[in-house]
Amino acid sequence: MDRKSCVFCTEIVANRNAAIIYEDDLTMAFMDNAPVEQGHVLVIPKSHYSNILDIPDDIYSAVHLVAKKLAPAILLAMNADALNIGQNNGRCANQRVMHYHLHVIPRKCGRQIEWMRKILTTGELDEASQNIRKMFDDRVDISKIKIV
Ligand SMILES: [Zn+2]
Repeated sequence: MDRKSCVFCTEIVANRNAAIIYEDDLTMAFMDNAPVEQGHVLVIPKSHYSNILDIPDDIYSAVHLVAKKLAPAILLAMNADALNIGQNNGRCANQRVMHYHLHVIPRKCGRQIEWMRKILTTGELDEASQNIRKMFDDRVDISKIKIV
């Protein structure tokens, strides 16, 4: 798969067809439009890399640092107790879009994820992204956040 047939390259990076939370020269973060939990965010490199084998170290680091930067805002905005951060490599590992991406999934204590994709409206995705962006812009004091 190359850039021309990649939905993240064509729809997200080129057309910005997503509820975008964060963007810099190398990365973008946006709401997963088929989340396993409300507030499910994806972080991607703007350049096309398929998986852990072809992503350069500096881009890999940039993507993962964005997840670290956004984590406090996601926890607060989604009123979450914890986070899953994960990444799939290959079709047999449930990678659906062959463009490197990192999942950041807010979790609530006692609520099991069924790993089924939910269908949310554009309004629901926009609301979550606005709440997370606001928390991120407010530069929250992470010493006040507790992960359970
Ligand atoms: Zn791509």
